Amino acid sequence: MDFISVLFKRDKERPEIEVQQKPDYVYGLITDKKGGFWLEGAEKPNLLLKTRGNYKHSTHRGLPTFLTLHYTAGRGKAIDTLIRAQANGYAFLMIDKPTGKLFQAHPLNRWGSHSGKSEYLYEGKKLKWLSNRSLGIEVGCAGRLSGVYDNGKMRYLDTPDRVEKYTGEVYPWYAFNPTTKLLLGNAKPIPKSRTRKIIFPEFNRQPGFYEKFTAAQEKTLEDFILWYASIKPDFDPLLHLLSHDIISPDRKSDVGGSLSLPLDEYRIKIANKIKEQRGF
Ligand SMILES: [Zn+2]
Repeated sequence: MDFISVLFKRDKERPEIEVQQKPDYVYGLITDKKGGFWLEGAEKPNLLLKTRGNYKHSTHRGLPTFLTLHYTAGRGKAIDTLIRAQANGYAFLMIDKPTGKLFQAHPLNRWGSHSGKSEYLYEGKKLKWLSNRSLGIEVGCAGRLSGVYDNGKMRYLDTPDRVEKYTGEVYPWYAFNPTTKLLLGNAKPIPKSRTRKIIFPEFNRQPGFYEKFTAAQEKTLEDFILWYASIKPDFDPLLHLLSHDIISPDRKSDVGGSLSLPLDEYRIKIANKIKEQRGF
C-alpha cells in the first residue's frame, strides 16, 4: 500500500506542550502521497476499505467532527471484520479483541459508511446520516447477549424484568442456530466475569447482558481518543463523542453496556483527561 513507500512524515502541527509532556506518544500521523492520513502506531492489514470522499463541514485539516463508537456484535477478530467490511463497502477503525490493537484500513481524513440511518442534534440542527461527519470505531465484541430457555431456545433479554430475573448462562447470537434459534451443541457461554448486566435504561444503555470490552480494548480506545483530541484542538468529547445507540437509538444497541461507562459519564472522563493533556 501507498503509505509503506512514502516518506513517513511526523505531524508537525502537534501542540508543543504534548511533545514535551508525552515524548513516548502512542501514535504519530503519517501522510500518504494522496494526502491521506494514517496512524503510525496502528496495525495496517493488506486491504483497503471503501471511502466516499472528504468529510463534510470539517473544521480542522479535513478531520471529522465526530467519533462514533460501535461494537461489532461478533467474534472480535479485526481482520475478519475488516474483510467483511471491504466486501460490504464499509469503513471504520477497528479494535481487535484477541490483542486489543487498533487496526486502520482507510485514511483518517476520508469518510466511509458505518452508521447508516442516524441523526443527532448539533448546534441547533438535526444532522442526519452521520457517517460523512464521523469516524467510526468498531470494537470487536459480542455486545448484547441472549439467554436460553429450558428447551434450548434463544431467550431475548431486553427488558428490565427479563434481565433482573434471569440467572442462567448468557450467549452471543452466534451460539444459536440462525433458523431454529436452538443453542448449538458446542456453544460456550460468555463467562459471568466478562459480562455487564444493565437492568434499567441509562443514557445510551438499554437493558441487557453485554460482553465487556477487554481492558486492552478500553485502553486502546481511550489512547486513540486522546490522541485524536491532540491533533484536532477543537474536539470536545462532550459534544463530539458519539455511539451508535445515541444516533440510531431505535435500531442499535452498540455500545450499550459493553463500554465501561454510560456514554455521558465516559465523555466526562475523557474530557477531564483532555483538559490535563491540553494543560488546563
Ligand atoms: Zn454500530
